[in-house]
Formats: sequence, structure tokens, C-alpha cells
Amino acid sequence: MTAIDPGRLEALHAAELAAFTARTPRSSALLERGRRSMPKGVPMSWMWGLYRHPPIFVERGAGASFTDVDGNSYLDFNVVDLAMTMGFGALPIAEAVNEAMERGAHFLLPVQETLRVSELLAERTAMPFWQFTLSASGANTEVIRIARALTGREKILVFGGHYHGHVDETLVEQAGGVARAALLGLPRGIERHLLIVPFNDLASVESALSAADVALVLTEPALSNCTLVQPEPGFLAGLSAACRRSGTLLCLDEAHTFQFAFGGLKRHWSLSCDFIVLGKGLGTGVAFGLYGMTAAIARFVEANTYLDLGGTGIAAGGTTYASTVAVLAARAALEKVLTPGNYERVRLLGQRLASGLDQLFRDLALPWTALHLGPRSGFCLEARPPRNGAEASQSMRIDFISARKLWMANRGVWDAMPSAGPQVSFAHTADDVDRYVRTARPFLEAIVR
Ligand code: PMP
Repeated sequence: MTAIDPGRLEALHAAELAAFTARTPRSSALLERGRRSMPKGVPMSWMWGLYRHPPIFVERGAGASFTDVDGNSYLDFNVVDLAMTMGFGALPIAEAVNEAMERGAHFLLPVQETLRVSELLAERTAMPFWQFTLSASGANTEVIRIARALTGREKILVFGGHYHGHVDETLVEQAGGVARAALLGLPRGIERHLLIVPFNDLASVESALSAADVALVLTEPALSNCTLVQPEPGFLAGLSAACRRSGTLLCLDEAHTFQFAFGGLKRHWSLSCDFIVLGKGLGTGVAFGLYGMTAAIARFVEANTYLDLGGTGIAAGGTTYASTVAVLAARAALEKVLTPGNYERVRLLGQRLASGLDQLFRDLALPWTALHLGPRSGFCLEARPPRNGAEASQSMRIDFISARKLWMANRGVWDAMPSAGPQVSFAHTADDVDRYVRTARPFLEAIVR
């Protein structure tokens, strides 16, 4: 059991929610007005569901901070769940987007800079062929379709604690050993297509793949949507070998983890796979995703490309994909921000954040541990980091996370959304990181026994 005092946590939550409401009257009024034209008063109802407090309306952002319509400013450690790791108003991205708008935002034909983006990605990830989409969800959708078409198999395997976007096939959860649709609006029987096994458990993987009916294993190299779960030594190499043996394709979803190390974790940990998914506009805030594939898969895609008005082919692509805006933003991000030097800087800041939290836990005699991988940290309310999604869920106490979120927000720090953990962005400084830890300290002092 954790050292959290439930009574103190509940009282603190109520007081912080009252303070938050008092500080955000203009946002409340806009939300109320918004409900007359948008469900929940927001342009995407998920914006309302992301936190356990009402959403606020934002006026503008600069660097690592943003300001709401009530004039409150927040140092941002959610960074749009990694879709905004370049910081608000990053000059290279602003210049790229301006240039793209001036030249023509989109032609449904390639601009020549597309080659630079795919060549840079190929060089950094050792994955030779690339395609653009509009999001990581879209990239995962196309990868699943290609894998099914190529293998002639239906099933997909993921690990407990997974999240791969709003992709029908993967929105399945296991409850009491039974797989079921995790959300509403999915076709009946969708759970038949998905196998879910524990991360870091090769025996379960091998047994699930033994029937040779799984088209694709889809996983993040480290699970980053259930706080943070890291692979044990040899697990990912074993996974890759098991896939090869059973004729199953392997996709590493690096929508988040591409931000964790230069070239992503595939490069950092020398992993092999058949596909990589990237997304979140690589952190620029521009909407695009990408997926990379091996030469063998690229040949299959070439042989099965859909011809408009001309027969069947892989269901892929969209009219807003690979726009000039997306391509120039991607090039600017890769050339000017996602550099080895900048990754090293955020790695050190991530270490500083995790050490700061660990020190805090020690000072308060809490048997907890700070999660840590590159620029990502997090709160593990156990002495050892989790090995899989089920263990990670022990630390995903929504009462603790919600109270912390409000406490931090009322003191000018925008904490990560519940499934994630505080993330250092390319715009953060050491002072910003120290401020996060300094702000968290009195919160923990107030709620632990
Ligand atoms: N894959 C992973 C690993 C993700 O974390 C996410 C978003 N959290 C997605 C895919 C989906 O990204 P998007 O919502 O931008 O499509």
C-alpha cells in the first residue's frame, strides 16, 4: 500500500478544485457558451475527458509555457502528450510553416523536400522506406492493413497497457481474462482480432504466436501510455526473433519514444522490426504521422498500390496527407531541433527531473520510485518500476493524479495527463525542471502519512 492518506488527499482535491474554479472564471464562461454549439463545450470532446477538472481556454504559448484566457500562465510538462515538444512558437517550425503556406499548403503531389525527410528518417532509424499520414493513429491503421494483406492473417497482438491511438482493432482491453471492446462505437466481435499478453513475458508471446495466425505484433519499445514500462534486457530481441519464427510482422510504435532518444529507441537499443510508426507531427504541433517499413514491405506496397478508379489495392492515404506544411515542418524538426545535441540536453534534464523526484521520495521516506527514460519521468507508487501494464496500473491512481494535477496547475505548472508522466521538452531549462520538483514537494508533504 502507498503512504497516501485518503482523507487528506480528498480534502486537498476539493480545496484545489475550488481554487482552480475561482482562478478560471473566463474559461468557465466560454465553456458554458461552448456547450450551446459543441458537445461538452469543446471542439473535440476528448479535451473535456483528458483531465478530471474542466478544460481551460488558452490564449497563447511561448517556449515551454502557455497562458489561459484568465491570464494564468503554466509551465507545461504535458507538452500536448508529446505533440508539442519543440515548444510554443519555435522559430524553425514557424518559418517552415510560413514558407509552406506561401508556396502552397498542399498540392496532392509531392514537393521535393519530401525526399530529404524520408532520407533523414531512413538514415536515423535504418528503416529504408517511408509514408506520411495525418496522425499516428492513421499510421497504425495503415500498418495493420498492410500486415494483414501481406500475411493473409487477421490477428494483431499487443501488450497490456497498450495505446496506439483511436484504431478500432486496438481499442480492446482485457478484464478478468476476457477481451472486450474498451470504448463505445466499435463493431461487435472486434475483440476476436486482438490478442493481449503481458509485456516482458516472452513465454506468453511465444504461446500466442504459436498458431501462426497473428499478422502483426504492435508495441511501443517502452510502454509510455500507462506511466512508463521499460523492457527487460533481451525482451525486445526475443520478441523480434519470435515474430520472425512465426511469420508475424513486428511494428514498433515510436509515436512517443522517437522523442526519447536520437533516431528513436529502435536505433538507441539496436532493435530490428518490420515497421516503425512515428507521429504527433514529431513534436511540431502540425498534424502528421509517418510510418517506415523494410524494403520487402515497400515492394509489397508498390505491387499493391490503389489506383483511383482502377481495381483494388491497400486502403491507404488521404487528401490532406503529406502536405507542404507537414513536409516542411518535418524537415525543420529533423534538421534543426531533433539533433543529437538537443537530445543529449533533454536526456540530462530528464535525469535531473527523475533524480529530483527520487530525492523528494527519500526526503519524505516514501517507498516510491521515479520512473525515468530519456526526457520522461513519472511517479511510481511502488519501490520497483513496473514490469508490465498490470503492475503499472498500481500507480495510476486517479485520485492521486487528479489532486496533483490541480495542485500543480494552481501553482503555475501544467502536469502530464493521467496516463503519462512529466515530460521534458526541447524548450525546457534546468530551472523549469527544478520548479516542477519544487512545486510537487509540498503537495506530497500534504497528502502522505
Ligand atoms: N501511438 C502511441 C504510442 C501514442 O502514444 C499515441 C497517442 N498518445 C498514438 C499512437 C496516437 O496518436 P494520435 O492521437 O496523434 O493519432
